[in-house]
Amino acid sequence: MQYFRVERLVHRFGDFVAIQDISFDIRAGERLCLLGPSGCGKTTTLQAIAGFVTPQSGTISILDEPIDALPPERRNIGIMFQNYALFPHMNVFDNVAFGLKMRKTPRNEIQSRVSETLRFVQLEHKASSMPSQLSGGEQQRVAFARAVVIRPRLLLLDEPFSNLDARLRLAMREELLELLKGLEIATLMVTHDQEEAMAIGDRIAVMRSGYICQIGTPQELYQKPNSRFVGEFLGSSNVFPIKDFRAGTDAIRLNVAGIGEVLADPEPDITEQLAQYLLVRPERIRLLSPSAPAPDGLTNRFDGVLENLTFLGPKVEARIRVADQSVQASSDTFPAGLSLGQPVSIAWSQDASVVTRDAPHG
Ligand code: ATP
Repeated sequence: MQYFRVERLVHRFGDFVAIQDISFDIRAGERLCLLGPSGCGKTTTLQAIAGFVTPQSGTISILDEPIDALPPERRNIGIMFQNYALFPHMNVFDNVAFGLKMRKTPRNEIQSRVSETLRFVQLEHKASSMPSQLSGGEQQRVAFARAVVIRPRLLLLDEPFSNLDARLRLAMREELLELLKGLEIATLMVTHDQEEAMAIGDRIAVMRSGYICQIGTPQELYQKPNSRFVGEFLGSSNVFPIKDFRAGTDAIRLNVAGIGEVLADPEPDITEQLAQYLLVRPERIRLLSPSAPAPDGLTNRFDGVLENLTFLGPKVEARIRVADQSVQASSDTFPAGLSLGQPVSIAWSQDASVVTRDAPHG
């Protein structure tokens, strides 16, 4: 039995298909992030789960019980909206109490549950403050308290950090993660920010054009993207078209446009359709002096010319021209004495070669 399950969900706005047959599950206590570019259908999925839009087909269930027919207020799902959406004319206590009042909870129970939740988010002393008197972090905690005070079976977070500047986002993200870990509540968060998804999600579902391309842990998606789209959406990647390949038991020998033969780890089920692109993460590429021997295991080695070097504090990014290709490498250690326009070698291991297709759909 799955804790929470979305099965074959489809939603159209008129002729436009916003969600095309998506399925996923969330385990008890798990945080799943829906990640994808603007317009891919994340918010529509969230709203279908919350009951604000009615999908044309598909099933949404909690503990194998369909909730599709229930109105939003009877689904027992907590929602934290974009920018927190606190009621400006209500104090903190009343903001948090709102969902309980809507559910006609007895007055003394409201009192005790709101107090308990405010204690959990460490805002008991702000119960009578108005939202405008709170810092951004405090507002986030009120929004969180308001979403969880009803003891929801699932928590939905809709781009909770949009419109915050970069430093504040980071602080809020860490704080929210602590709160979520404290409650161990099944959570679905929508975001278009890959770093946020990786930091918060136990697993990530990458969406594109109404489809889910891939679901997995942040590590799985980063190290083994099932498509060029996922590889490029999560972090940066060098992308090289594959002309053809020879599959062997020890390696796949790729004929890469503009580079030559590149080795990748063997894959039993490799086909032409699955081998359209070679992806190599910049941080997996080592820069070497042309005369230096390649370190053990770095079987893919090519000579090139250093085109550009950017110092970014903790790391340095380099662009190297190898035959017809421009290759990005990033590292905190580079050989001494590199200078622009001079020969340099690049090398990476067989397992850093990711062989993939364009996109799993369309
Ligand atoms: P964003 O990150 O920009 O919020 P999203 O991934 O959440 O994007 P959705 O809001 O789910 O995307 O929208 C998916 C698609 O459906 C978009 O192309 C959008 O224009 C379209 N859409 C959303 N709501 C409606 C509506 N009420 N009527 C018609 N089309 C809609």
